[in-house]
Amino acid sequence: MTEIRPRRIRPGTRYKDFYSYPSKSFEEHRQDPLGMEQWIDQNTRENGVTDPDSTISPPVNLSNEELNVWKYEQVRYFCKQLNWLSTELQGYCPPRKYPQMIATEQWIFLCAAHKTPKECAAVDYMRHTLHFVGNQLNDPKRFPSRTTVKDVAVVKLSNICRRVYRIFAHAYYQHKSVYEAFEKETRLCERFTKFVCKYNMMTDNNLIVPCEGAPDEARQIEKSEDKSRQEKREQRAKAADESQVSPETSEETSESSNDENASEITVIENT
Ligand SMILES: [Zn+2]
Ligand SMILES: [Zn+2]
Repeated sequence: MTEIRPRRIRPGTRYKDFYSYPSKSFEEHRQDPLGMEQWIDQNTRENGVTDPDSTISPPVNLSNEELNVWKYEQVRYFCKQLNWLSTELQGYCPPRKYPQMIATEQWIFLCAAHKTPKECAAVDYMRHTLHFVGNQLNDPKRFPSRTTVKDVAVVKLSNICRRVYRIFAHAYYQHKSVYEAFEKETRLCERFTKFVCKYNMMTDNNLIVPCEGAPDEARQIEKSEDKSRQEKREQRAKAADESQVSPETSEETSESSNDENASEITVIENT
């Protein structure tokens, strides 16, 4: 009789050896109580970068109930993975420089992890939100079981997706090199975007990162953001030039440019 190696990560195991056990087919995973999660984890590790589309297609022959479990576990998995991105951003996102959660400069996102939603610094927003949605995903009132997920519970996943997506948006528009290095390694934003589009979990106008699979509008949003940043740079350069010529007018110029900046942030997204 062949001995089956247990799929365990024992204390002291190095990260590189975490998954050094043989893969299992979906049918084998299907027999286990948390098999769906393990299947998603295995499938994404193996194909997430080389064939991202295959990781957002459910296994064939799922019942409607199993499909719901698959969607729920996918969202759980995405949130778990987003922790890696938010960790990557830590050193680049000091609260003094990013006192608000913004993506493009037209939007400020309020943090819903508080009794009354409030403006948290970007780095806090990311931590608070991942913690907050983690609690929601583990809340027995919202999701009483990991083996049976009702249609009504699937609807609640949209809200979670919309909130955590802002981490991608912030990374893309404010820390592009960190985003790009992370995306190259994981294609997480691409997989997430394709997943929420496929299952209508987010509306197109909220999908503002122009990664593969994103709606065309995302590219337009990026273009107008680039344009507005370019204009601001030109205004600042002009103001700096003028202040060199005539120091007396400098105060006035900087005040008026501040007013302009304030009026450009027109939309505050509630919760
Ligand atoms: Zn940041
Ligand atoms: Zn917060």
